[in-house]
Amino acid sequence: MDGDSVNAFVGIGSNLAYPSRQVESAIDRLSELPGARLLARSSLYRSTPFGGVEQPDFINAAAHLKTTLSPRALLEALQGVERAHGRERDGERWGPRVIDLDLLVYGSCQISEPGLDVPHPGIAERNFVLLPLSEIAPDLDVPGLGPLSSIAINYCEPQIERIA
Ligand code: ADP
Ligand code: MG
Repeated sequence: MDGDSVNAFVGIGSNLAYPSRQVESAIDRLSELPGARLLARSSLYRSTPFGGVEQPDFINAAAHLKTTLSPRALLEALQGVERAHGRERDGERWGPRVIDLDLLVYGSCQISEPGLDVPHPGIAERNFVLLPLSEIAPDLDVPGLGPLSSIAINYCEPQIERIA
């Protein structure tokens, strides 16, 4: 990969159909994406659901990719991985999902387009994004938000623990 490649960070979550396996297999697929190289991955974390829907706990992780794909092409690749895992897009918002891949950060880009917001708007308010991301990129500067280390982690709600 050449000097035009960009550091991108992806958040991964699942709470259905053996979630740990879903997350591990999504990371395997990320490592095989054309136009991207997997530089790092976090541990697995277990978090209690967010958004008031009664559902199983989530397993979460984050991945660091170096990529020559455009933000839109990377989002489409992530959605391809979701489809490969049988993700159906008609579920309830905040509801259970077999896999969720979010483009958290793409270099220094700030994007606000139909269907693509980068940095992902949930970063600052979701422990299940902040903790795994901090593990693999403690010095990350989140465009528009500042240093990741300056974003407060709320250890109470939703509950989250590192499991593996
Ligand atoms: P959520 O992840 O917020 O629970 P979904 O995974 O169902 O919800 O995503 C809904 C839509 O969010 C997708 O159709 C996608 O186009 C849009 N979206 C906007 N910005 C992003 C991003 N940075 N990463 C992933 N999806 C995004
Ligand atoms: Mg998503």
